Amino acid sequence: MTTIELVRGDITRESVDAIVNAANSSLLGGGGVDGAIHRRGGPAILEDCRKLRASHYGKGLPTGQAVATTAGDLDARWVIHTVGPVFSATEDRSDLLASCYRESLRVADELGARTVAFPAISTGVYRYPMEDAARIAVDTVRTARTDVEEVRFVLFDERAYEAFSGQLR
Ligand code: ADP
Repeated sequence: MTTIELVRGDITRESVDAIVNAANSSLLGGGGVDGAIHRRGGPAILEDCRKLRASHYGKGLPTGQAVATTAGDLDARWVIHTVGPVFSATEDRSDLLASCYRESLRVADELGARTVAFPAISTGVYRYPMEDAARIAVDTVRTARTDVEEVRFVLFDERAYEAFSGQLR
């Protein structure tokens, strides 16, 4: 059984085995969570990302997939980078968002991570509606087959926190 916890705050302050990054497919950094992780985690993360690009992801990490790097100076062992879908009003991309959570947990299992912190993937610059994103996140983690013992959703603001707690009730 995986325990789900909700925390309001900055994911870069969490002590866990793995912190999930809402990355973009370039793996070369961006704004939001991505910017915060690289700022606080230091250059070792970007260095690993560049190596991954060169070895496996020359065309970028595809949406819905996940890959791990060092966590640099963060209080974690790994950062798991996953690329959420950009919200579309005309195309249902919920499977891709679910895939981000599932694939991140699969990578966590491969690493042997037991505690994993997730941000609300795709709900920032990628504009996914918070209620839908929260439902997909919680449903996917709840039904995932994983050895991860604790999933912590780290929500940056009250609106995200309320949406996720609504799903857990
Ligand atoms: P995406 O491109 O997947 O939409 P963003 O980083 O723009 O990713 O936003 C994802 C979510 O993470 C948003 O709800 C945003 O408010 C939140 N967020 C931004 N910075 C942090 C942080 N330091 N810790 C946790 N959540 C954050």
